[in-house]
Amino acid sequence: MAKIYYDNDADLAHLKGRRVGVIGFGSQGHAHALNLHDSGVEVAVGLYPGSSSWKKVEAAGLRVGTVDDVARDSEIIMMLVPDQVQKRVYEEHVAPHLDGGKTLMFAHGFNIHFGQIEPPEGVDVSMIAPKGPGHLVRRVYQQGGGVPALVAIHQDASESALQTALAYGKGIGSGRAGILETTFLEETETDLFGEQTILCGGITALIKAAFETLVEAGYQPESAYFETFHELKLIVDLLYEGGMEYMRYSISDTAEYGDYTRGPRVIDASVKARMQEILREIQDGRFAREWINENAVGRPHFSALRRINAEHPVEVIGKEVRGMMAWLNDGKRA
Ligand code: NAD
Ligand code: MG
Repeated sequence: MAKIYYDNDADLAHLKGRRVGVIGFGSQGHAHALNLHDSGVEVAVGLYPGSSSWKKVEAAGLRVGTVDDVARDSEIIMMLVPDQVQKRVYEEHVAPHLDGGKTLMFAHGFNIHFGQIEPPEGVDVSMIAPKGPGHLVRRVYQQGGGVPALVAIHQDASESALQTALAYGKGIGSGRAGILETTFLEETETDLFGEQTILCGGITALIKAAFETLVEAGYQPESAYFETFHELKLIVDLLYEGGMEYMRYSISDTAEYGDYTRGPRVIDASVKARMQEILREIQDGRFAREWINENAVGRPHFSALRRINAEHPVEVIGKEVRGMMAWLNDGKRA
């Protein structure tokens, strides 16, 4: 069983007198900085000169400075800029200030695990990765709770890297929910696998295949959209709240029988074999190399894929159908 830490296992005293520099004020950055500040931790936010977040950070009553200034003046530095720019930001603005005794932190293991960032010996390198987007990390904290997180240690120069990381996790509220111990390898590989095979890649491919099957068979795209896309949220909400049995309790017996007998014909052993192939590409670094190279040449393939996918008929009809639903964003725009 995985080891899980809670507030009682963590002590904010490990952050006392040590300034925390949060680099970036995006989804995770704003949530970490504001939660730590509200937990009584001394926080500064590092931004690039001219960043539109500068005023927002000042208005929230936090210190703000350039990434260089904040990295120089902080003992604990949390990297919360997008993963694909972390290497450059690290090399140009953080590494020059990374004296021995400091702590370098991440919310995702990609750059450490795949060797893009190689911190010097003598610094602690750890991860606190909340298992939710930043707005949730902020909102749940303000309500008195916390979003669960992962903790991992890559380098333990001080022999207290875990205590520092857990204190950080407590500061952003995650100790209230549980902080699960993992490694940079496990977090990185399972995160990539999850987003590729189910959360992002798998689910959108499944929707497109089902939508296309109905439309090609002559059904109205609006009906196809409702059945293969719109209703997904209702089902996912049930799964999220109470698991598969709870979801199946809420649907009709007809739906449940179709689920058991037809689902495994769609997602069969051949799908699992391809999932294993995708996992091997993650494990042996092929995916990471491909994505790093794609970024290095200006992302031509990525940009083309983004455009092609935005033009898919399910997206076109989806905009129209969501316009009927005033409570959705597209509805408000319509
Ligand atoms: P984001 O895109 O929301 O925010 C990035 C921030 O970095 C923005 O404030 C942006 O202005 C700033 N930035 C961009 N380029 C910069 C540069 N060159 N110099 C300085 N600042 C720059 O990113 P995010 O989603 O918060 O991701 C940050 C980290 O958190 C990543 O490692 C990511 O994997 C991890 N993470 C994200 C989530 C999530 O749900 N978003 C969840 C867990 C972990
Ligand atoms: Mg993820």
